[in-house]
Formats: sequence, structure tokens, C-alpha cells
Amino acid sequence: MKYLSTRGGMPPKTFTEILLGGLATDGGLTIPDAYPKLSKDELAAMRGMNYRDLAFEVIRRFADDIPAADLKAIVDKTYTAEIFRNDEITPVKTLEPGLHILGLSNGPTLAFKDVAMQLLGNLFEYVLEKEDAEINILGATSGDTGSAAEYAMLGKKRVKVFMLSPLGKMSPFQTAQMFSLQEPNIFNIAVKGVFDDCQDIVKAVSNDLEFKAKHKIGAVNSINWARVTAQVVYYFKAYFAVTGSNEEKVSFSVPSGNFGNVCAGHIAKQMGLPIHKLIVATNENDVLDEFFRTGAYRPRPETQHTSSPSMDISKASNFERFVYDLVGRDPAVVKELWQKVDGGGSFDLSATPHFTHIQDFGFTSGESSHADRLETIRNIYQKYGVMIDTHTADGVKVGLEHREAGIPLVCLETALAAKFDETIHEALGRHAERPAELADLEKRPQRYEVMDSSVEAVKRFIVAHCG
Ligand SMILES: *Cc1c(COP(=O)(O)O)cnc(C)c1O
Repeated sequence: MKYLSTRGGMPPKTFTEILLGGLATDGGLTIPDAYPKLSKDELAAMRGMNYRDLAFEVIRRFADDIPAADLKAIVDKTYTAEIFRNDEITPVKTLEPGLHILGLSNGPTLAFKDVAMQLLGNLFEYVLEKEDAEINILGATSGDTGSAAEYAMLGKKRVKVFMLSPLGKMSPFQTAQMFSLQEPNIFNIAVKGVFDDCQDIVKAVSNDLEFKAKHKIGAVNSINWARVTAQVVYYFKAYFAVTGSNEEKVSFSVPSGNFGNVCAGHIAKQMGLPIHKLIVATNENDVLDEFFRTGAYRPRPETQHTSSPSMDISKASNFERFVYDLVGRDPAVVKELWQKVDGGGSFDLSATPHFTHIQDFGFTSGESSHADRLETIRNIYQKYGVMIDTHTADGVKVGLEHREAGIPLVCLETALAAKFDETIHEALGRHAERPAELADLEKRPQRYEVMDSSVEAVKRFIVAHCG
């Protein structure tokens, strides 16, 4: 498999070549030259496979330059009952016939990002070992991504993580999750400022190409292709779990922010998984819902702070991958559209034939508000005795609006309620359940560095600790 850029300006590369990188060299996103298509027989053989075998079957088609035995070992080491608290890895919970929750949040940080990030950690370790290389991951986080990255890179020999977060702005649970890590390759930097300050520092450091090269600075953001690939797997797992034959169709509702998760669903559908609808659920930050309803993509200057904070985005970084397919994989068109976006503008496909193809791709969408979240959390708890988190609630709310008779609806659970206890308490008047082994999380000793919001201070810290 060859990987190209959505904007057409990158020579073809292999999976391993794009693994450690971020954007393609021309500013676009990396994408396979064609999606692997599964035959009826291949799909039939996958039914009944456990998560590890299924993951290997899906991922090997994308990571075809990693020897099969090596890839199998990496996958087997990643998807264990020990790391994901459950041998199903992504178990399906049936609320009532035809209505299901896909449990993606049983990894170390209780959010779905672990599913991809844990694999990425092991892939990084493998490739760095082979190439006798090292990497210093620099990132900014307001909660979920940073912790998932840190837990994936814990103790990895050739990897160090420098994670910036706004001092005092994360929830006590999220703070404790990150700052209680004592492994010497993890550095938490608490910046006196807000999340945007952290992100600006990361951008400034990454734009200093000399510094970046000299100190082997890398990233693990949501545009990383391997992360998308790892997420394709659980669409297969869920499909087989809720159907009796491969003739049936299933719809998925996906709480969305940067469009990584639902992009993986799109790829599963393109590979031949019988998906009926992909339902994009947003919160008040509705840039994606607006696009799927109207054809206009208008990144916002402001992001609203909501009670489903991991979906608080004003620009969806993976969206360009879907638009590439939508416009018939024409890089010239994508390049032109993103010239507008990168220049602070927007685009509108409503008057083009591309817009009508949205239905062919199975996409539909909806929006959910704080009041909707509270009501959905309450309803699901009262009706089924199941506690869902705020992001999952957005997905359930929008999913139910698009539910069709005779077609199973799978709502993706993207975090556990325990991570967002404040809103759970507001909705239910009681606290969220949390896994027993995390009972004392906030009481564990914390290790972090407090720093002024200064590019130079962060650079000095990296130089002193990157070895
Ligand atoms: C990251 C995240 C999302 C959004 O996923 P995307 O792939 O960015 O669309 C939704 N819910 C939770 C809990 C997340 O951490």
C-alpha cells in the first residue's frame, strides 16, 4: 500500500514512513492510494474472530510493510484483558433489542483514545528500535489526548513525552491521571495560562525547524494515520457482535470532534463492512453538523467551552480525509478548498454534485446541547440502569433521532462517566461509578513542573531533559 497526500504534493510513502510524522510534506493529510476491499469470504472468515485476530486482519492491510509476525506480536501485546480490563477489549452492551453501546473506554485513561494510542505506543517502540532512533513527543492537552499519549508511552525506552497543560484548568481526575505518573520518560508541564497558550507554545517550538530536528521533536496528534487505522477495527467488532449474518446492515452514532473516530467508520464502510448510516454527533460546537446538513464548512474563530469538552473543536483536523473521498479523490480540489480554510475562510459544496454524494457515503448528523446531555444521561440511567458520560450522551441523543426500524443502532461510548463526574452529578444527583483500582487516584503523589507561558522556558526544559 502506498500513502499519498490529500493535496497531491508528496511522493508515495509506506506505512512505516508516515508512522512517526504528522502532516504530509505539502501540508495535506496522508491517505492510502486505495482502500483494501474485503471479499464476502474474507468478511465471513472475520465473523467470530477475537479482537486481536480481527485487529491483525484489518491493520495488516494498511501496515503491509511490517512483517506479519512482527505486527501480530505488536497487536497481541497491545489488546490484552490486562490493559483493557476486559478480554472483549471493546464489549457491546445491549440496552434493548436493536440499541447498543459499544464500550471503547476500558483502557487506562477511561476514554476511547486508548484503543488507538496503546497500539501507537507499541508501533513507535518497534520502529524506533529498528531504526535505532529516538523521539521526544511534544504536545498540548486540555485533558484526554495528553493522558492517553502518556499512558501509551509509559516506560518506552526511546520515547520521552513533554506534555503541556493549563495549570489548574483540568478536572481533578484528569490532573491526577496525568500528574500521578512517576515514570522518568514522562514530563508534565503545567503552564500558567489557558489551553490556547499551551497550543501556541507547541506550535512555536514545532515551527523552529532547526530546534525540532536537533531535539527530535515529534507529535501524536489526531491526524496520525496509524491512530485512524486502529480505530477501524472496532467497527468490525461491533458489527459482528450485533448481527447474525453479513447480509444485515448496522448504523453507528459517533460523538465527534476532530473527525478521527467517524473517519475510521467511513473507512470500514469503504472496505466493505455493511454499514447503513454513519451518524456524526456534535455538541454546541457544530461545525461538522452544519457541513453535513448544508454543505458549508465554516471553521469558527471561537470554540465554546461545553460539558463534553473533548468535542470542543472549531476546526476538524481529520475532516480533510473524508472530503478527499467526497470530491472523488481529486487532490487539486482538496488543495483549493483548504487554501480557503488555511487562510481563515470557509467553503460551500452545496451547489456541487459532491454534496449529493454525502448520502452515498452514508453520512448524516445532528447536534446536542448541555440540556440534551443531562436529559439523555438521566433517561438512559432510568430506563436501562446504565450510566453514560457526557460525550456518549451526545452520541446517543443524536443517534436516537436517526434510528430506523429494523436496523441496529450502535452508539459509540467514547469515555466513562467517571471522567466527567460533575455533570453526572448534575444530571443524576449522584456520583459516577469508577473502576475500583482508581479509587485513590487523586490521593496519589503528583509529579509536574510549573512554568510560565514562555516558549523559551519550555525549550530550555526540553534541552535539559531530552538527553
Ligand atoms: C477525542 C474525543 C472525542 C472526539 O473524537 P474525534 O475522533 O476527535 O472526533 C469524543 N469523545 C471523547 C471522550 C474524546 O476523548
